[in-house]
Amino acid sequence: MKVPFLDLRSVNLRQKKLLNEAFESFLDSGYYILGNNLSKFESEFAHFSGSKYCLGVGNGLDALVLSLRALNIGPGDEVIVPSNTYIATWLAVSQVGADVIPVEPRIGTYNLNPELIQDKITERTRAIIPVHLYGQVAEMDAICSLAAKSGVFVIEDNAQAQGATHLGKRTGSWGNVNATSFYPGKNLGCLGDGGAITTDDEQIKEKILMLRNYGSKIKYYNEIKGYNSRLDEIQAAFLSVKLSVLDMDNAERRNLALYYNRNLKNIGDLVLPELLCDSVFHIYVIRTKRRNELQEYLSSRGIGSLIHYPVPPHLQKAYSELNYKKGSFPVAEEIAETCLSLPLFPGMTAEQIEYVVDNISKFYSE
Ligand SMILES: *Cc1c(COP(=O)(O)O)cnc(C)c1O
Repeated sequence: MKVPFLDLRSVNLRQKKLLNEAFESFLDSGYYILGNNLSKFESEFAHFSGSKYCLGVGNGLDALVLSLRALNIGPGDEVIVPSNTYIATWLAVSQVGADVIPVEPRIGTYNLNPELIQDKITERTRAIIPVHLYGQVAEMDAICSLAAKSGVFVIEDNAQAQGATHLGKRTGSWGNVNATSFYPGKNLGCLGDGGAITTDDEQIKEKILMLRNYGSKIKYYNEIKGYNSRLDEIQAAFLSVKLSVLDMDNAERRNLALYYNRNLKNIGDLVLPELLCDSVFHIYVIRTKRRNELQEYLSSRGIGSLIHYPVPPHLQKAYSELNYKKGSFPVAEEIAETCLSLPLFPGMTAEQIEYVVDNISKFYSE
């Protein structure tokens, strides 16, 4: 048997009929950029997220960059980011010329530890970017009240947790402005690149409308120096289809995660995700000291797995100018050295997940 880490083809083929219909109607419309498919999806996703406004942009990294620009964050400013995240969170801050101030996660949730934030807040701090890593919602109530008290903005990086709810409130509705990605592998993925920003703030919405379209509100009149970063009509049409099944897909992800948690309990030195009811399990991450060995063993039995992420941002060559060393952020480093993401995707069969569990048990009993 073969169990891929993620079978995106089969995930998308489950909606083949609806996606084909969406494509045909897009093609017939003759409209490619900033048209009705986009406005329709934007109002659907705003409603879904419990936000007033949604603006489609080119990708998740741009969604973060435009969010920072909309808040006038730039050179001389500091932005608090998790030490354990996909590098895009850091790159967005660097792209607007601000300084990243990394804060360590809790080892149990892999998310920003709010207790460590206060000490990092200075006169230059302008925003905190919590990431809902692996689909697990960050501690938004604590983070938002600390931010409000300190007079700094919150920008959610919601690339990995579309559809998650925390204290009855969806991700993407907590921050002053919130960024998400529709990269194909995300919980809400399109068939190419895409991203969006959600906010309740009308001024921020107006600024992002300009920023994503060359800094222009009226064609050929440019008020600010903007970008070209728009969500394509074709992707918006596909996303309306994908959004209609997102809650179902997420429920399936959670069931698979529950199965893993029940059946991998007390095996070897495995550390399983804390099954906080908030998670939509973008990925299912376990930890073990024998990570590389386990990954090889699974691979030799046709089971795909990945490491999210092998090198934390502070140890990447791209950030060598910050002079961080091994030991600078030990929690992020410990996660990078021991984490392994197991196969998990909507449509994964009972036989497939049993096969993964059986082989992990075998690995530890041999
Ligand atoms: C995927 C991702 C991004 C970037 O999204 P792209 O659409 O690939 O640019 C940003 N932050 C996190 C946490 C991500 O997982």
